[in-house]
Amino acid sequence: MKKHIAILGSTGSIGTQALEVIEAHPNEFVAEVLTANNNVDLLIEQCLKFLPKAAVITNPNHYQKLKDALANTPTEALAGEEALSEVVQLPSVHIALTALVGYSGLKPTIHAIKAKKHIALANKETLVVAGELVTQLAKKHGVNIYPVDSEHSAIFQCLIGEEDNPIEKIILTASGGPFRGRKVADLREVTKAQALKHPNWTMGAKITIDSASLMNKGLEVIEAKWLFGLEADQVEVIVHPQSIIHSMVQFEDGSIKAQMGLPDMKLPIQFALSYPQRLKSDFERFNFANYPNLTFEQPDLETFRNLGLAFEALHQAGNMPCILNAANEVVVDRFLRDQVRFLEMSDIIAGCMAKVPFITTPSYEDFVQTDTETRKMAEALCDR
Ligand code: NDP
Ligand code: MG
Repeated sequence: MKKHIAILGSTGSIGTQALEVIEAHPNEFVAEVLTANNNVDLLIEQCLKFLPKAAVITNPNHYQKLKDALANTPTEALAGEEALSEVVQLPSVHIALTALVGYSGLKPTIHAIKAKKHIALANKETLVVAGELVTQLAKKHGVNIYPVDSEHSAIFQCLIGEEDNPIEKIILTASGGPFRGRKVADLREVTKAQALKHPNWTMGAKITIDSASLMNKGLEVIEAKWLFGLEADQVEVIVHPQSIIHSMVQFEDGSIKAQMGLPDMKLPIQFALSYPQRLKSDFERFNFANYPNLTFEQPDLETFRNLGLAFEALHQAGNMPCILNAANEVVVDRFLRDQVRFLEMSDIIAGCMAKVPFITTPSYEDFVQTDTETRKMAEALCDR
């Protein structure tokens, strides 16, 4: 039976690569739902090619254009944020691939889980903000969360066949980003153009800045805790500039398993959709002879404070990771508009973590409130 996929964020980096995977495997997958925020032209193009059941443009200003373009097609055009939560519940959808950016992914993911749709999770912020709530809900509804993030896919792949063997620790690899090796003095004046030049991956703007500041690895530490049911001190980070080993698991006998390959997000996307099957692909193969040196180094937590802040948020738990995430979304947006400097981002995040009221066992409503309050505070700190 073909798997029918709802791609939330089909016009983004993950979304477009997911459509390449679907196109390469027409006997396995159907693009059932496509969604975009602003890029209505690409969404229309995608719809005319894949003829999904429904298409959502969350920015309502583009609705008329979408509706007119799809008038003579089988695709229903919808608009607005609420529509995301509706389309994931369509009876014909089997898997929701969450490839939205940031906090916007949380609500539709919750609705998809409640409707018993399996989740292919790219939107790591969902688990950072509300990891406990989301994983418990998935358990309650018998829903699987398949990781798309390359590191988490690597760990997921290393764990196949090891279901009864406890994990001693996991080792997340980090490329180190474009500023690896730089010190505080070198980072004061860096520009967004420099931060947007990732050495190994081509990704959306937000995650690329997160990679430069090491916040991405911090978010991934929290994501890993929830995906694999770990304690904070079971997650380690090592910088591996070549991005060939995508992450590792160490078991209780000391054995370490790693998953390797050239950096290409299509592989983890495909595996999240095809699991437990591995589908034949024409992705470029890794050649050991081209990589005589795979190297590893400790992350520089003094320079890249965000990684330490994420570990702190994870240890404190409650709504602290939600505060970390909301403050980060604000400062990254402001950095991309040249309104805060690179190093100031960590100061503002730390400021929000110190000031926004802490809640030990937050409800969904508490997360919404925390997110709103933190954004307000972060905006004010940016404007100071
Ligand atoms: P992009 O910015 O490339 O794409 C984001 C997608 O989500 C676009 O389709 C965009 O629509 C849509 N979108 C953005 N904001 C909103 C919103 N507020 N409401 C509704 N839709 C929205 O991001 P990426 O593909 O790079 O990343 C997506 C997620 O995957 C992130 O959580 C990221 O951390 C994670 N991820 C990404 C990786 C990568 O290689 N790119 C690797 C691992 C994880 P539009 O463009 O039309 O405005
Ligand atoms: Mg990653």
